[in-house]
Amino acid sequence: MMTEQQFTAIGQVLQNAMANSPFYQQKFAGIDVSRIQSKEDFEKLPFSNKSDLRQAYPLGLQAVPDREVVRIHSSSGTTGTPVIIPYTRQDVADWAVMFKRCYETAGITDLDRIQVTPGYGLWTAGIGFQTGAELLGAMVVPMGPGNTDKQIQMMMDMKSTVLCATSSYALLLAEEIAKRGVRDSIYLKKGVIGSERWGEKMRRRIAHELGVQLYDIYGLTEIYGPGIAMSCDYECGMHYWDDYLYFEIIDPHTGLQVPEGQVGELVITTLRKQGAPLIRYRTHDLTRFMPGDCPCGRKEPRIDTLVGRTDDMVKVKGVNIFPGQIDELLRDVPGASSEYQVMIDHLNGRDIMTVFVETESGADKKAVERDLVQHIKAKIGLTVVPKAVAIGDLPRSEKKSTRIFDNRY
Ligand code: ZN
Repeated sequence: MMTEQQFTAIGQVLQNAMANSPFYQQKFAGIDVSRIQSKEDFEKLPFSNKSDLRQAYPLGLQAVPDREVVRIHSSSGTTGTPVIIPYTRQDVADWAVMFKRCYETAGITDLDRIQVTPGYGLWTAGIGFQTGAELLGAMVVPMGPGNTDKQIQMMMDMKSTVLCATSSYALLLAEEIAKRGVRDSIYLKKGVIGSERWGEKMRRRIAHELGVQLYDIYGLTEIYGPGIAMSCDYECGMHYWDDYLYFEIIDPHTGLQVPEGQVGELVITTLRKQGAPLIRYRTHDLTRFMPGDCPCGRKEPRIDTLVGRTDDMVKVKGVNIFPGQIDELLRDVPGASSEYQVMIDHLNGRDIMTVFVETESGADKKAVERDLVQHIKAKIGLTVVPKAVAIGDLPRSEKKSTRIFDNRY
């Protein structure tokens, strides 16, 4: 949905972009943005992609005079040319306000001591966690990543109550703390974990080992950085800040809006960003809008925890399939373990989807196959070929994305 305030804000964003952003002047050349009169008109505008942003390297995204830029951040360049995002003083302040809300959503207060382990520098992570915490009035312990000895020492001596980390680093710290037997000298109550797709098992292990409640925080360098969405005590998706950002969920294949509540690709338009405004930016993250009100009482709308990346998604007989869906579905099939593999083939002019699943020892394989077919038919709408196998029969991989094999091309 688009509120009236959002529609008004988008009108200003478009006018501003056409007046000041060379990037959008080029991208929207020939489009009269003053004629965008409805949500539907807006949805006809072309998307912005990471590759477009890369082509604007180094400062082609800048939409304000040089004197207004106070900082840049950069997305990692591991897959090619990095994307440089210029920030104005107002952008930096707005980011801190959003981040402060994230902490508040997790019940973190000015009495907390926040140990920040994500990296500082060109990357947006560390400094975002820090400025938000300072605005909140909490005490920051700005560690950055690595140096586990010092990390644990400071955690004990400073009596840190909140740990901000990636899931893998949180797990490493949890294991080190257990190994050293210093759990009783640790005062952590909450963990704020950068949202990536991480398994339920890992989550439970970190929470248990550290004795904390975990919260997901979401964000990406192109759109401020982490701090644009955050889970609350009820762990039912992440609240996002719709006064700063407009979210859409689209079918990554057709580019059209998916029906309310369905999973698709998150597309973001910034409503207040000055340095580098973005319009209909494709994040490649898969999620969905959460329907209804959150039990926590916060009015901000929610997106679900990320279920994967669009690159992991495949289309079979017109239906989108992604690994997170199968993970979730298998939990409801008695006797099925969490290990599976999907093969998609094209035979005699038809797409065939075969689902291999490991069964718990003693389980009735025929019953598991029957349940699997029923669940997939009901939840995804496809008829599949089930193959129940014994525990240990399927190859093990840490990456969920290597579980769906598309052999059609
Ligand atoms: Zn909530």
